[in-house]
Amino acid sequence: MSGRIQQLDQTFVANTYGRFPVTLVRGNGSLVYDESGKEYIDMGSGIAVTSFGIADGVWTDAVVSQLKVLQHTSNLYYTEPCAILAEKLCQLTGMKKVFFGNSGAEANECAIKAARKWAAENKGAEYSTIITLKNSFHGRTLTTLAATGQEHYHELYQPLTPGFVHAAPNDLADMERLLDEEKVAGILVECIQGEGGVCVMEDAYLQGVERLAREKNVLLMVDEVQTGNGRTGDLYAYMHAGIHPDVVSTAKGLGGGLPIGACMLGERVEHVFGHGDHGSTFGGNPVACAGAVSIVNRLDKQLLSEVRNKGDYLLKRLSSHPRVASVSGRGLMIGILPREKRAGEVVGTCMDNGVLCLTAKDRVRLLPALNIPEKLLEKACDVLMEAL
Ligand SMILES: *Cc1c(COP(=O)(O)O)cnc(C)c1O
Repeated sequence: MSGRIQQLDQTFVANTYGRFPVTLVRGNGSLVYDESGKEYIDMGSGIAVTSFGIADGVWTDAVVSQLKVLQHTSNLYYTEPCAILAEKLCQLTGMKKVFFGNSGAEANECAIKAARKWAAENKGAEYSTIITLKNSFHGRTLTTLAATGQEHYHELYQPLTPGFVHAAPNDLADMERLLDEEKVAGILVECIQGEGGVCVMEDAYLQGVERLAREKNVLLMVDEVQTGNGRTGDLYAYMHAGIHPDVVSTAKGLGGGLPIGACMLGERVEHVFGHGDHGSTFGGNPVACAGAVSIVNRLDKQLLSEVRNKGDYLLKRLSSHPRVASVSGRGLMIGILPREKRAGEVVGTCMDNGVLCLTAKDRVRLLPALNIPEKLLEKACDVLMEAL
């Protein structure tokens, strides 16, 4: 039964993923079901993607009605969903222009290209270095891998795109040192390192990085691929620190389940790209954009405050557990460091007991749908506490 699909996959799909031995067939909100009909509470949202859960009615309607009239045009023509989504994102963030791609890595590629071109035109071609943080994650393309500050991802793919250096996170002196030593175009940071283990950058650190970026005339870019679109209880995580980045990349939760990436360009870089400087065949796809518009429209004050309250509930309950060493994160992006068990073991026990969780480094990671009902959140928390 479950054997067949898993065997086909293992035979014919490239062996890049260590999948759990579960084949999911359908879902409804924060509940998903496997082939045998077993029900799970989804505390991972497909890695922060299904912002309003599986088969959510509002999102599905937006996607299906667009799908029925126009599914693709190429970027040679204008389409309404793409234009409306760009307008919304700019209104909500104060950014000036948006480039659409299809993934987080592509959003970051665009940010990096924008920084390199801006610096070449405004500072000189030798100012090409991008500073990112150690323990960061920015994607799997050769350039975003180079941006990713984790050596083990680099090893077998040399040579990577040159021009990336990595500063120690939450260490302003190290950032300042690199700004002095290198010829820098921009700084790219995650406000909370997701894949790195839900490591939160302090507000004061982010404010300090902003000050340094201004002093040294380099671009401040934030990677909001995972933290963005309401995930942390703010629309974008940088807003929590009150900083004003020049470039914001996002993806994952923006699409609600369809592939989309967005690179938002602020005042200093809004004119950096001209016709032909960058592009994507699928970028700005009307179906993906129609879904994203429906997501962004629902990220209002009420929802964000619910996300914060649910996050506080998880933080409070989990950090009181004697077998929890620490809890990190904000809103519905939470990392739990177990005191005795390995994170993978805890996730395995949760799965057996009907709750899907993630890991990030040595932590159990929770990224439930933003609208997960309180009852399901409590139930998932009970199962997790038991598993710990
Ligand atoms: C997931 C992620 C990416 C890569 O996104 P893809 O859509 O997998 O290319 C980049 N940056 C951060 C912070 C991420 O969490």
